[in-house]
Amino acid sequence: MPVDANNETMTQIGIVGAGAGGAAATFVLDEALPDADVTVLEKSGGLCGRAATRRHEEVTYDYGANYVKDDDERVVELLTEQLDSDGLVDIPEPIYTFDEEGVVAPGREADDRKWTYRQGLTQIAKRLFGRTEATVHRRTRVESLRREDGTWSAVDTDGTEWGPFDVLVMNPPAPQTAALLQGADWESPVKEPLVEAVGSVEYRSIWTAVLGYEFELDVPYYGLVNPGKDHEVGWISREECKPGHVPDGESLLVVQASGPWSSAHYDDDPAENVAALADHAADIIDDGRLRSPAWSDHQGWRYALPEEGVETGPLDSAEQEGLYCLGDWVTGEARVHAALANGLDVGERIVNSA
Ligand SMILES: Cc1cc2nc3c(=O)[nH]c(=O)nc-3n(C[C@H](O)[C@H](O)[C@H](O)COP(=O)(O)OP(=O)(O)OC[C@H]3O[C@@H](n4cnc5c(N)ncnc54)[C@H](O)[C@@H]3O)c2cc1C
Repeated sequence: MPVDANNETMTQIGIVGAGAGGAAATFVLDEALPDADVTVLEKSGGLCGRAATRRHEEVTYDYGANYVKDDDERVVELLTEQLDSDGLVDIPEPIYTFDEEGVVAPGREADDRKWTYRQGLTQIAKRLFGRTEATVHRRTRVESLRREDGTWSAVDTDGTEWGPFDVLVMNPPAPQTAALLQGADWESPVKEPLVEAVGSVEYRSIWTAVLGYEFELDVPYYGLVNPGKDHEVGWISREECKPGHVPDGESLLVVQASGPWSSAHYDDDPAENVAALADHAADIIDDGRLRSPAWSDHQGWRYALPEEGVETGPLDSAEQEGLYCLGDWVTGEARVHAALANGLDVGERIVNSA
C-alpha cells in the first residue's frame, strides 16, 4: 500500500467512470483529503460521459447533453467561481415547442441559464480533473469487482487489476453499475438488495443525428422541444447559437429522436436513421434544404436518461462497506447539474467518513 512523505498509509479511492458526477466527487475528495490517492478508471477515450463534445473541422458540438442549467446553487458556484470560467457561455436564444403535427410555437418556460463552454460541455470534467492530483486512466473498462479483506479491487477488460481501494465509487449508468455489482465477488447481505434496487432503474434511449449545413438558418429559437412526447422527434437544437461552436455561414442541428423511435430504430442502418431525422427536421423547421446535410454524425445513447431515481436504502447500506454510487440516476433527475450536485454530495460523505 502506498505511503505518504510521513510514511503514513494513504487512503486509496477508486472511481469507476469519469462522468460529471465522478469528476465532481474527485474534485471534492482531492481538495478535502490531500493524503488520499484517487484513481479514476474510464472506459471511453473522452471525459464527462453523456455530457459529450466532438469536433468536425472548425465546428464544435455537444452531441449528448445540450447545456447545463443554473438550478443548483453549489453547481453555479462551482462553475462560475471555483473553476476557471473562461469560455463559459450562455445560449441567449429561447426554446420553442412543437406538437404532434410538428407545428412550432413559442412558449416553453425559459431556463434562466443554458450554459456550455466555447470548447464544449466536456470542459466541465476536464476542468474538475485538471484541478486535482487524481490519475485518470482512459480506455479502461472495468469488467469485474472484488471485495476482499475489507478492500475493493477492480479488473479491466485487459486483465489489469486495480486497487486495493479502501473506497470504491461507481459512476456508470444504473444498468451498467448493476451488472458490475451482480458479478462482483462480494459476500455480503447488502449485495442482493443493492443489485435489485440499482437494476430496477428504467432508462430511456435516445438516438441522436447531428446535421451540418453550409448555410445559415433564420429562425428565432435555439431549441425546439416536443413537450407532449407525441412526435417521433423529441428535441432539435442549433449549435450555432452557442458562442464559438459553428463558423459564420454554417448551421448545425442536433436532432434527438423520441424514446419509442430511438428504441425501435436503435440498431437500424445509421444512414437511414440520419435521413429520416433530417426529413423530420426539414418538416418541423419548414425548410426543405434541411433534408440534405453537407455532413452528419450520429450517436445511439442506450442509457440516455434515467426515468426515475434509485431506492436509496440499499445504497446507504453499501456505503458502510466502502461502496458509493453516484450520478443522475441516484438523484432521479437526468441532468448534468444534478449529476454534479450528487458528485459533490457523495464526495463530502466520503470525506466525512474518512
Ligand atoms: C442525448 C442526451 C441529451 C441530454 N440532454 C441534457 C441536457 O440538455 N441538459 C442536461 O442537464 N442533461 C442532459 N442529458 C443528461 C446528462 O447528460 C446526464 O444527466 C449527465 O451527463 C449524467 O452524468 P453522470 O456523471 O451521472 O453519468 P455519465 O455521464 O453517464 O458518466 C458515467 C461514466 O462512466 C463510464 N463507464 C461506464 N461503464 C464503465 C465501465 N465498466 N468502466 C469504466 N467506466 C465506465 C462512462 O463511459 C461514463 O463516462 C442528456 C443526456 C443525453 C444522452
